[in-house]
Parts: sequence; C-alpha cells; structure tokens
Amino acid sequence: MRPFAYQRATDASSALQALAAAATGNSTLTEASVQPLAGGTTLIDLMKLDVMRPATLVDINPLAAAWSAINLDGGNLRLGALARMSDVAASQDVQRNYPVIAEALRLAASAQLRNMATLGGNVLQRTRCSYFRDVSYADCNKRNPGSGCAAMEGFNRSHAVLGMSERCIATYPGDLAQALIALDAAIEITGKSGVRTMPFAQLHKAPGDTPQLETTLSPGELISAFTISGRWPRSVYLKARDRQSYEFALASAAVALDVQNGVVQDARIALGGVATIPWRAREAEAQLRGQKFDDGLAQRAAEAAFAGAKGRKHNAFKIALGQRVVARALHQAAAMEV
Ligand code: FAD
Ligand code: SF4
Repeated sequence: MRPFAYQRATDASSALQALAAAATGNSTLTEASVQPLAGGTTLIDLMKLDVMRPATLVDINPLAAAWSAINLDGGNLRLGALARMSDVAASQDVQRNYPVIAEALRLAASAQLRNMATLGGNVLQRTRCSYFRDVSYADCNKRNPGSGCAAMEGFNRSHAVLGMSERCIATYPGDLAQALIALDAAIEITGKSGVRTMPFAQLHKAPGDTPQLETTLSPGELISAFTISGRWPRSVYLKARDRQSYEFALASAAVALDVQNGVVQDARIALGGVATIPWRAREAEAQLRGQKFDDGLAQRAAEAAFAGAKGRKHNAFKIALGQRVVARALHQAAAMEV
C-alpha cells in the first residue's frame, strides 16, 4: 500500500475544507487525490490493491453524530449517510415500512462488514470486475481510460447484460441502490456551496465513453442523507447469487407494489447484478399498472424488464435468471399481508 496522509474531520465544515483540495484539477471523484473515509471497507480494499491511490484520506466518522440518524417522520424516511448498514437493517421502522431496504442490506456482504460500512459508502462502492481490481491487467478503460476492456473478450460471467457501452461492461455491484431507485429516493449532498438535493436515480452514470466517471458527485462533495417519500410495506428484495451468504448478486430485484383488490395500482422495479448502474425497469412497471395480478402478468413484466438485454460469452444465463428473479419477487410482493 502506498503511503497516505490521514486527517480526521471534527465536523462537516472541517471535512469540506479538507476535501476542497480534491476539487482542484480534472480529477474525477473516485480518482481524487483526497478521499473521504467512512467505513473504509471499499476504499482501503482498493488502496491495498493499488487501484485507488489517494494522497490524503479525510476521516468523516466524527460526523456520524449528525449524519447517522434513522428518522421516520409522518410518512417520510430520512437515513443519514453515515448510518451503518447493520443499524438500518435492524431498524423496526425500516423493516415494517420499507422491507425492501432492510432486506437489501441484510443480504449484502457479511455481518462484520455491515457493522463497519455506511450507507453513503455502500452506494459509492466500485465494480467487482476482476480486471478492474487487478492492476496487472493494463486494459481497463475504467481504471486506465483509453486502454481497452479486457472483459469484453475475457471471462465476463459476472458482467452486465443491460446498460453496457463499447468501453465498459462492468456490473454495478451493490444491493441497497436498487431499493433506493425503486422507491424514488432522493439524496442530500453537502458541498462548499451548501446542501443540494437530487433524485438518487441521477447519482450513477452509465459508462458511455467515459466509464471512469461513475457518479455525478463533484470532488469535495459529501452525501449527507437519503430521503424517501411515502411508505412501501409491500416491498421485496430478492437476490440470486452463487452462495447464500457473503456474495454479490448474479441477479437481484427490488420490487414495490401497491395492489388494491388484486389490481396493481403502482409498481416499482429495479434490477441489480445485471446492469452497469442500478437499473430501473420502467417497461416492466408499465406492464403491471392497472392490471389484475396473476402468473401470466408477472412473467410478461419479467420479460419486459430484460427486453433490451444482451448477453456475452459467459453471462447470457443472467437474462433467464434475472427474469425468474423478477417474476418471483413480484409474486412475493403481491402475496404479502400488509
Ligand atoms: P468506504 O470504503 O469508506 O467508502 C467508499 C467510497 O465512498 C470511497 O470512495 C469514499 O471516499 C466514498 N464515500 C464514503 N462515504 C461518503 C460520503 N458520505 N460522501 C461522499 N463520499 C463518500 N456490498 C453490497 O451491497 N452487497 C454485497 O453483497 C457486498 N459484499 C461484499 C463482500 C466483501 C468481501 C466486501 C469487502 C464488500 C462487500 N460489499 C457488498 C461492499 C460493502 O458493502 C461496501 O464496501 C461498503 O458498503 C462501503 O461502505 P464504507 O462505509 O465502508 O465505504
Ligand atoms: Fe475495466 Fe469495465 Fe472492462 Fe471491467 S468491464 S475491464 S471495469 S473497462
């Protein structure tokens, strides 16, 4: 691991001041020479692998007193970005009103990691593409822009079938982001000019010609909170993976339904493990709205979710698997007693 400087913020303004150095030059957020340190479970990992090489880490954990609350106020949920994954998964308010969030967190990583890792760090985790994480491969457009993509013709079993570009086919690996996208969450971002809010769906960028630019955050900005309007007790997160614990998704679905007298009034579906960014399946949602829920409808919606999918040599199985995950998640959500 390369040497780096460690600074401990005392509050938001000292964190922003220390991070301001990152706003200079053309660096992207994830290449920035100054990085915020939350749980460190992604950042330190990638520094050990020499994939990320920040000169300075700014420890933002002292901000947890202000930025880790879990508040259900009326019908709205606010989650501090420094809340630990395990605390949010264990919250009775979250389990009762947003089971899709509790389950996405419970099925992520391991108990030890969830005790360390924060929500903000979770949504900013980087791809598990093995060519990205192994610096002995020169050709990775995400790590080394313009160098090519070893995964295109290489071993691409874990890679994306939706949202790829000619430059990058890496999968977005996290679980929580799918739940947040499905619930139309917003994020609060704190920067030197104050606090701004944007739809969570605008955080991640599809790879296009610049796979190294992964988010719309600017260097020096911090995610401070996530907010969700309304309650979604009829919601499910289903994750298919190679083993039942401590493994990333091969295909996952976050589903939230509003069903009245057997008819779907509203449907929200997001896909994980299969796309380059947390993926909202709007075509599938459109199939469901206003229709009586049954097996055929769930299957048609699942097929619509993958209508634009394209498999490669090793990952084409994800299309059929993903469809089954969506259909099963829809059945589970429809059958919930709320
Ligand atoms: P850090 O490592 O501290 O930060 C990650 C990145 O976000 C860094 O670039 C950091 O600078 C930036 N950052 C952190 N907080 C903020 C903020 N508030 N504002 C702006 N930037 C910020 N995740 C899953 O979802 N599902 C899994 O199945 C899963 N399995 C895993 C298995 C293993 C073996 C490991 C090591 C990780 C796994 N993870 C999984 C990923 C894990 O959940 C993430 O590493 C963790 O959530 C990151 O949170 P953190 O607080 O440790 O982030
Ligand atoms: Fe790099 Fe993306 Fe290709 Fe993986 S898929 S090698 S991250 S460019």
